[in-house]
Amino acid sequence: MQTKLTKNRISKKAASFTESVIREMTREAVKYEAVNLGQGFPDFAAPEDIKRKAQEAIAADHNQYAITWGVKSFRDAIVEKTKWFLNLDIDAETEITVTCGSTEGMIAGMMATVDAGEEVVVFEPFYENYAPDAILSDAVPVHVPLYQTADGWHFEKDELRAAFNERTKAIIICNPNNPTGKVFSREELEFIADLCKEFDAICFTDEIYEHIIYDFGLPILNFGLNENQQSDENRLPLPQTIQNPKSKIQNHISMAQIDGMRERTVVVNSLSKTYSVTGWRVGYVIAPPDITSAIRKVHDFLTVGAANPLQHAGAYALGLPASYYAELQKEYQRKRDFIVPVLQTAGFKCEMPQGAYYVMTDISDFGFRDDVEFTKYLIREIGVAVVPGSSFYHDKTLGSQKVRFCFCKKDETLRAAAERLQKLK
Ligand code: GLN
Repeated sequence: MQTKLTKNRISKKAASFTESVIREMTREAVKYEAVNLGQGFPDFAAPEDIKRKAQEAIAADHNQYAITWGVKSFRDAIVEKTKWFLNLDIDAETEITVTCGSTEGMIAGMMATVDAGEEVVVFEPFYENYAPDAILSDAVPVHVPLYQTADGWHFEKDELRAAFNERTKAIIICNPNNPTGKVFSREELEFIADLCKEFDAICFTDEIYEHIIYDFGLPILNFGLNENQQSDENRLPLPQTIQNPKSKIQNHISMAQIDGMRERTVVVNSLSKTYSVTGWRVGYVIAPPDITSAIRKVHDFLTVGAANPLQHAGAYALGLPASYYAELQKEYQRKRDFIVPVLQTAGFKCEMPQGAYYVMTDISDFGFRDDVEFTKYLIREIGVAVVPGSSFYHDKTLGSQKVRFCFCKKDETLRAAAERLQKLK
């Protein structure tokens, strides 16, 4: 017997956002055998020692639920790492929640703090997830533009100030930034911090790319690569050693380090990008005790907890020496210094990103109606997948002449993309 389906079976919330465009582009890339410079995940192997630790943890039978807010040794490792890297003292018992990736960390954080109708300030373009995050947590997003200039991406202070009012509950920043590659300066962070203090707002800061920060501008001197690497013909060429007196590497500055921000900052982070294990889904949130208690409750009923053995491997990974992070940074800088000139030569207007592993490019010189049409052409005819710019904007027209490339890929993948992009000319 056929029954009648008369009710709306899909919630208004679920109906009000689309599937992830970033993830969709990966499926398209597979379908059309395109080189995937869309979704930001490494196509190279994760570090052997970290993988071994995960295998050992499974063999040692860390296979049942972990403590819901995280394996103790992993939280202790987060405390240690945060101390040496950011010089912040955090408490493993009251200020850390281990989550299923930073994706869960962000949504659990928002659901734990935001009430229906409260406003959350978001810089635009923004990482795609923040829009559904706002809908799922009943927040009202207030967008503040980041403007692309030859000198990087900037916001207008007046516009940011105008976005804050008594209904503002929080601001979300992603630093280093996906998708723009912007690294917020100390001065900018202090300006944001002052607004948070003035309006008693929380800052959600997504710092998942904290170890991927580049020499600003030109390629750096002295890559210090070992001989093995230099003699490997398959690797991308080293960048030209251009002496650039203006070049400088800014260390990562966490919003939690800014004066008076510890008690109003929720730091969202993860193993994914720093240790090249995006599929493990192990993230963590550092927040003051009252907010952490609320996040732990939301997290518990959403997921119970993140994968137990992978947290044990995470405890090992977070204990790696500083040289691991220096090497990671150099590797990505090498890839950036290869791909950005390739894109510029192919006709994309873009600048060197300062951090993260993405380049937002302007495609207006190609004469396509919009970014979606251009992306289809690029995937199907040229064989390179990217993410249409409009997926990073609430007003889709603002991104309609942009596409985002990622370069967290093997040298051979980047070379293959470079070769295919020559067909664009
Ligand atoms: N952060 C990555 C990106 O922006 C991957 C996102 C995802 O698919 N979870 O591409």
